[in-house]
Amino acid sequence: MFDCIVIGAGPAGITAAIYLLRSNFSVCIIDSGDTALKKAHKIENYYGISSVSGEELYLIGRRQALQLGAEIIDGQALSVDNFGSFNVTTTEGELSSTCVIIATGSTVKGIKLSGEEKFIGSGVSRCAVCDGFFFRGKPVCVVGAGQYALHEAEVLSNICSSVMLLTNGEQPPENCPYPVLTSEISEITGDDRVSGVKLKNGEILDVKGVFIANGKPTASDFILRMGIECSDGVFAVNEDMSTAINGVFAAGDCVKQPKQISTAAYTGMIAGLSAIKYIKEIKKNG
Ligand SMILES: Cc1cc2nc3c(=O)[nH]c(=O)nc-3n(C[C@H](O)[C@H](O)[C@H](O)COP(=O)(O)OP(=O)(O)OC[C@H]3O[C@@H](n4cnc5c(N)ncnc54)[C@H](O)[C@@H]3O)c2cc1C
Repeated sequence: MFDCIVIGAGPAGITAAIYLLRSNFSVCIIDSGDTALKKAHKIENYYGISSVSGEELYLIGRRQALQLGAEIIDGQALSVDNFGSFNVTTTEGELSSTCVIIATGSTVKGIKLSGEEKFIGSGVSRCAVCDGFFFRGKPVCVVGAGQYALHEAEVLSNICSSVMLLTNGEQPPENCPYPVLTSEISEITGDDRVSGVKLKNGEILDVKGVFIANGKPTASDFILRMGIECSDGVFAVNEDMSTAINGVFAAGDCVKQPKQISTAAYTGMIAGLSAIKYIKEIKKNG
């Protein structure tokens, strides 16, 4: 059991971790390895460093956290469950902690499917654990090709009559225990509710639910799963970077503009300090 699990190893997550580690708290950082920093060829507007590549700055940050005693897990966080303390499911196994800091970077996902927006709440869902029950005994599909999609499919497999993975043109995951179709998706069809999915090869699939799980879960996916409504992938944080869930904090590009390293480091610092306060309070009250 860690004092804090930090999801993300960009400037927000690493800064939060630094504050916790220097106060002697145990920290596990989960890093899927795709920080926005890796896309920044040259950074010349961060305090004290006249010029550095984003990749280099990312590696310096990771090294700093390791030197201070962080455990870093290279993998994806798939879900966060709130049992008073927190259970984080990752591609590398289960972890638990007193509190969680979500610092997963920008929440912008790829292109939306035709019909995805229209049917959100009427057959399209972004959260299997929240909405799976509404599709009990019915055929559903999960759109995605990675570990997150498999994770969502597993949740649904107990509830729905059948679960199929639609990779929308991507390579299917290895050893997928569910039926997989790799054809590209043309549109999600229906009148007032989803009645099927049309593929570009002309095939029409009879499914009543479409669960979107492409890529990896974003900050809003984690928050939504814990029962907090997110409007268009955005959720609120308070000034101390706490969310509506006790013990869950968020920082960086996933919650604050302008999307810059200075903002990420600042909000990471606030989230780290708030997490310290929270853990001390929990420890004091036994
Ligand atoms: C091309 C480009 C150039 C830029 N140039 C500048 C610049 O010159 N100056 C400047 O100040 N800013 C610049 N930025 C912006 C800057 O990179 C970001 O504001 C900053 O990296 C945000 O930090 P963050 O920690 O919030 O998110 P990120 O740095 O994006 O880090 C997110 C972290 O979360 C991890 N993650 C995400 N989802 C999961 C998951 N499910 N499980 C586990 N880990 C996960 C990622 O692997 C990563 O470690 C640039 C951005 C881009 C794209």
